[in-house]
Amino acid sequence: MTAGQNDTFSDAIRRLDRAAEFAEIDAEALEKLRNPKSILQVSIPLRMDDGSLRVFQGYRVRYNDTRGPTKGGIRFHPGVCLSEVKALAFWMTCKCAVVSIPFGGGKGGIIVDPKQLSRTELERLSRGFIAQVADFIGPETDIPAPDVYTNAMIMGWMMDEYSKIRRQRTPAVITGKPIPLGGSLGRDDATGRGAYYCIKELEKLKDWQPSDTRVAVQGFGNAGQHVSRLLHADGYRVVAISDSRGGVYHPDGLDIPCLIETKNRTRRIDAVYCEGSVCDCPVCGSEGCQCEDCHCSDGHEAKSEKISNAALLELDVDILIPAALENQITANNANQIKAPVIVEVANGPTTSDADEILAERNTLVVPDILANAGGVTVSYFEWVQNRAGYSWTEKEVQSRLRTIMTEEFHSIYDLMTAKGIEMRTAAYAHALNRISAAVEALGTNKYFSNGLAST
Ligand code: NAD
Repeated sequence: MTAGQNDTFSDAIRRLDRAAEFAEIDAEALEKLRNPKSILQVSIPLRMDDGSLRVFQGYRVRYNDTRGPTKGGIRFHPGVCLSEVKALAFWMTCKCAVVSIPFGGGKGGIIVDPKQLSRTELERLSRGFIAQVADFIGPETDIPAPDVYTNAMIMGWMMDEYSKIRRQRTPAVITGKPIPLGGSLGRDDATGRGAYYCIKELEKLKDWQPSDTRVAVQGFGNAGQHVSRLLHADGYRVVAISDSRGGVYHPDGLDIPCLIETKNRTRRIDAVYCEGSVCDCPVCGSEGCQCEDCHCSDGHEAKSEKISNAALLELDVDILIPAALENQITANNANQIKAPVIVEVANGPTTSDADEILAERNTLVVPDILANAGGVTVSYFEWVQNRAGYSWTEKEVQSRLRTIMTEEFHSIYDLMTAKGIEMRTAAYAHALNRISAAVEALGTNKYFSNGLAST
């Protein structure tokens, strides 16, 4: 069965069951992990700028808190549904265990197209959501963060609203905040940077030369931009990138800083094109370019071409980085994926049936719960700094992040090699061992059915 929008959670549980075969997981811990701890559904009435009222639906799921308070982002997207939020919260539980930070997993979302709202409406919606979930979240219980179409400013509004409700400044209730409101240095690029650190380890294992290594990145938001920027700065050839409206491709490599500048100014990648025809702008500075949007100039001359999101996934590249949404690589296109290595920066971009096809084709998939764990790791650093009332330098944040990503990458890679399993299954098994140890520390059937307490 192919995972559709409403099937994301069942797909996640299929993976859990597969990984359990390779983990030392207690049966009771496994049973607990098949079900979310608690789910809150809320309706958020929003007074629109024109005076009318609209009601939006939102969710917050606390999946499992055995290893610590639940942790996970809040997504604003029209495709949000409960199955997706539960799956994302489950993945967060595993991800926090993969990087061994003392958190469980949670997630939230609002069914909304934020691009249709004004800034004031967006602020009221963000504050309205917090007003509804204030009793469900907290620095010791559940700590949200940004996700798709939410950013630092939205986290700032949410923290401010929570603090007003509690009548005390509470920065540790949410991470990914603006730096002046208690955000951590290095949080902004942490997800992309964590994936970059994984790629640097693969580079050593596979003996890659960056200038010969072609990369395609689907999704050019926070995570996609930063991983592209770091790889480009390191000499990698980022040949294709895309956003929700389509992408650009050039076999010699794109000018990533220019594309980031253009995307952030115009909010769209295809704005780098001249009206009606493909122009030279993504590798801008070339002679004859009339595009008003093009202000960058680094002397590239070759032309780039437009590419669809579907075609980007099937490009002949060395590394494919899905960094947009889930369910992009499915049974329908897995056979067409040419990249021998996929680094999953997005959450859940590959369905479980696509996994089987990719495994048969010997494609190495660095799974989301490892590849994008840099974000939650630095969120944890932010929470620690907020609670300590002390801030770390960016260098310190990056160095601690690199140590964790590198260690966990190798533990999982070694487990994969030792057991002859896919890297995703190894990552889940690694996480399940840690979650199970926490469940067992509270006692399981093995302990309680063993008669009288001896200690
Ligand atoms: P974002 O909102 O900053 O960017 C999302 C990007 O995806 C945008 O460029 C958007 O245009 C693009 N996009 C949307 N639909 C698309 C489609 N159908 N095809 C191609 N591109 C599409 O979000 P983000 O924070 O960068 O998150 C991206 C992914 O990374 C998500 O799966 C998210 O859960 C995951 N992630 C993000 C973080 C983080 O810290 N930001 C951490 C872990 C995982």
